[in-house]
Amino acid sequence: MDYEAIICFETHVELSTATKLFCSCLNEFSEKPNSNICPICAGHPGTMPVLNKQAVEYCIMAGLALNCHINNRTYFERKHYFYPDIPKCYQISQGSAPFCEFGFLGIIGDDGNPYDVGIRRIHLEEDAGKLIHSPDSAASYIDYNRSSVPIIEIVCDHERNPIRSVREAKQYLKKLQGILRYIGISECSIEKGHFRSDVNISVRKAGSVNFNNRCEVKNMASFKAIAEAIEFEVKRQIKLIETGKANNQETRHFDEDKRVTVSMRTKENAHDYRYFPDPNLVEIYLDNDYIEKLRRSLPELGDSRCSRYIREYGIAESEAAIITNDRELSEFFEKTLEFGTDPKLLSKWMVRDLFNALKNAGVTIDLCRLSSENFAKLISFVEDKIITAAVSKEILQEMVQNEINLDDFIKVRNLSSIRDDVFIMSKISEALAEQTASVAKVKKDPYDPALNFLIGQVMKKTAGKADVKKVKDLLLQAVTNLG
Ligand SMILES: [Zn+2]
Repeated sequence: MDYEAIICFETHVELSTATKLFCSCLNEFSEKPNSNICPICAGHPGTMPVLNKQAVEYCIMAGLALNCHINNRTYFERKHYFYPDIPKCYQISQGSAPFCEFGFLGIIGDDGNPYDVGIRRIHLEEDAGKLIHSPDSAASYIDYNRSSVPIIEIVCDHERNPIRSVREAKQYLKKLQGILRYIGISECSIEKGHFRSDVNISVRKAGSVNFNNRCEVKNMASFKAIAEAIEFEVKRQIKLIETGKANNQETRHFDEDKRVTVSMRTKENAHDYRYFPDPNLVEIYLDNDYIEKLRRSLPELGDSRCSRYIREYGIAESEAAIITNDRELSEFFEKTLEFGTDPKLLSKWMVRDLFNALKNAGVTIDLCRLSSENFAKLISFVEDKIITAAVSKEILQEMVQNEINLDDFIKVRNLSSIRDDVFIMSKISEALAEQTASVAKVKKDPYDPALNFLIGQVMKKTAGKADVKKVKDLLLQAVTNLG
């Protein structure tokens, strides 16, 4: 029997507005608990919320970037529940009238074809405070600094092109993160809790039109955990179907150590929250001119840039997709082009060498010290054989971490290519004398892997400063000339 999974994300994204959603407290992280609050975000009775216009615009921008319809009339509702992190006993959110509806996000489906994952809605709401439990479970503390920070919730549509596999799920989340960073409405850092996803999973027999009960998995701190939770849940639900057991609609928690999901509670339905319009906030009317103005303010997004790079520069699709998924990278690429670097050469350097150097240094492109001008210069030095590719890797690593003057650096450290054939020959002779076993192999067969070993020995003796091709040619010649 074939089964299909239906995977729907509810992603909460913290917006990087200057202030909170309904008060003038700064929207910034504070180490000291309850230091960044006022009577409004601490939920005192009788206080009046005032809506943050920037948050509204950010929510609409997300909707436009995700191909949504923007509703002209919308309002906020109170979503009631008791939990200590929500001091008013209700959260100001949106129920029946979200800002954005019926959008999609394009990915490449498992069958290799473009697939537009349906987005049901995007609404704006306030975040809750944070509970901190003491390690011995004797006490719990509440920090309201996060209370009323603006977040948008992006909800997938289970009826319109839902995600069907872990691979599609990962792609969806990465692209979503990339798009929201592009439009500059959130840092979208998973580690800092700016980008938090719950996932609804259900399984049905392939071709069936009815939906089985779904489970919602919460508390996942990484893409890896999300992928593992989905895999586990799909297997668990298939087993339930096959053994004729019912799958309860419930909320489950992902245990990262055991890598399993465990039941937390049966899932609430919307009517349990008693939504009703917040009488303290007026209805919002958005005219089309205003929406169009926001649409025009959006930058060119990753997908469009990716097609353009392939079309205009002839860059490999896989490289173009990697570079354009991140706005900072894409901007660095375009800036470097201005210094005359060949686009195809540049994309290879970025995906291969720059990524490696950034990874080794543990920094992202926006935090690294490398300027586009210096990067272009480094590439041209290798092209002009002023330095070798091997030496350039070392220099690039340095440039990512420290601001350097490239010309001085090469001069002071004596990193220029060795053009002196006599010197290279002397190093080859040394290597040949030391590695007689390898020499014998190469003499018998010039394609023997021992040749690469010998080249490596000579490169080591020249500190990577000799041209590899030249070393190879001279080396083969020297071996042939040996008696
Ligand atoms: Zn406040």
